[in-house]
Amino acid sequence: KYMSSDEIREAFLRYFETKGHTRVKSASIIPETDPTLLFVNAGMVPFKNVFLGLEEKPYKRATSCQKVFRVSGKHNDLDNVGYTPRHHTFFEMLGNFSFGDYFKKEAIIFAWEFLTEHLNIPTEKLYVSVFEEDDEAFEIWNKVIGLPEWKIKRLGVKDNFWSMGDTGPCGPCSEIYYDRGEKYGNPELGADDDFRYLEIWNLVFMQYNRQPDGTLIPLAKPSIDTGMGLERITSVLQQVDSNYDTDLFKPIINFAENISNKEYGKNEKDDIAMRVIADHLRAITFLISDGVFPSNEGRGYVLRRILRRALRYGKNLGIEKPFLYEGVDVVVDKMKNAYPELIGNRAFIKAVVKSEEERFINTLKRGMDILYQIIENAKKEGRKHITGKEMFMLYDTYGFPIDLIEDIARDENFGTDIAEFEKYLEEQREKARKAFKTGAKQIKPIYLALRNRLPENEFLGYETPEVIDAKI
Ligand code: ATP
Ligand code: MG
Ligand code: MG
Ligand code: MG
Repeated sequence: KYMSSDEIREAFLRYFETKGHTRVKSASIIPETDPTLLFVNAGMVPFKNVFLGLEEKPYKRATSCQKVFRVSGKHNDLDNVGYTPRHHTFFEMLGNFSFGDYFKKEAIIFAWEFLTEHLNIPTEKLYVSVFEEDDEAFEIWNKVIGLPEWKIKRLGVKDNFWSMGDTGPCGPCSEIYYDRGEKYGNPELGADDDFRYLEIWNLVFMQYNRQPDGTLIPLAKPSIDTGMGLERITSVLQQVDSNYDTDLFKPIINFAENISNKEYGKNEKDDIAMRVIADHLRAITFLISDGVFPSNEGRGYVLRRILRRALRYGKNLGIEKPFLYEGVDVVVDKMKNAYPELIGNRAFIKAVVKSEEERFINTLKRGMDILYQIIENAKKEGRKHITGKEMFMLYDTYGFPIDLIEDIARDENFGTDIAEFEKYLEEQREKARKAFKTGAKQIKPIYLALRNRLPENEFLGYETPEVIDAKI
């Protein structure tokens, strides 16, 4: 009998408690004190100021299972979702943290002991990577743990130098991979298209604070930040090849099957749609539960786009009516033990989702009429394409998905001007960038007051706000 995801989550937190870590509840997905970030994208984010030495906690070791969301800024997995077996937008990150307490050696020993002695993963299945210049980490894996040299791969900055965003805490890291076997061929460990070696755990050796100009300032106290995706380690322990086949996703995939009257695993295009819907349903549920509402800017805009994207994939499966709000129940039932706040928020989340679904279906109908009018007028003029300006108007005002415009254009033997559309989009992103800067200033005047009181400190917090990806 395999461990359930609830058991794995608990085993992790419990293990680190026995190693002197304080169990800390997941923070909201909305970063509470960080105006440079749209969403919490890693378990360390709620501890950012502790790493930087700006905030003190009554403990030096912590462990958490943090809700994270990766659709913007430095960590954006939106395009991977549905296509790879290991990526989600919303997922749970298990982590252990040392704030100037233990460092590389203990972090590596803890991780190895937990995986091999508590989860009983066979050692021959495990590989690791280290930052190419990090001889110390290499030696620990080799000499202390006893991993043979050929199982320790040195990788460059892209894989093994971790940073939260363009600024903030960062450092070299060491990652643990699980070998899914030769049926996936013989890729290079760490390659992007690698489905054989599954990255399960990242141990970050927090050593620097990256400045907006790129320089690395050493932290006063080197620290440890680790992150392991619950969905991935669950797939390993439940011996399935995809996160979507674990107990975390099965009920949601079943929901997508029932509502579309299709079977998962029969047709790749349908499978992708079901995976996207399952992923986005979890994201939508947790975002609203944490207080994000659909809107036309900032976090609310991301939520709106994700929800519409899920509807669009639903349409690909032949679902024409609002359905996501019913899926909220499935997500809540699956996650309510770990996140009891979902129980009380359930009715509210469903109401928000349902009204947003209805609203979108209506605007889409209106947009559709307008698109056909544009096509009629163009035909009269003898024009055979939809201009970028028209596309942008449909996209921006009616929330019209671009691929839908292209589908319809193709049916009418029409072209589209994507390049011009992107020009308008870029202009809008520029505006959003500026609005986000001023918006952040309005929300957090306390930081400005603080800056005035500390004239010797240069304040750089608003230099690099994240921008919502327009492609969502
Ligand atoms: P990958 O290379 O597979 O994209 P990553 O190196 O970007 O992962 P990290 O930033 O190191 O991931 O995050 C720490 C851990 O969180 C990973 O080792 C993995 O277990 C998990 N993880 C990262 N991204 C995702 C995701 N999009 N969905 C699910 N789990 C993820
Ligand atoms: Mg990644
Ligand atoms: Mg990686
Ligand atoms: Mg990684």
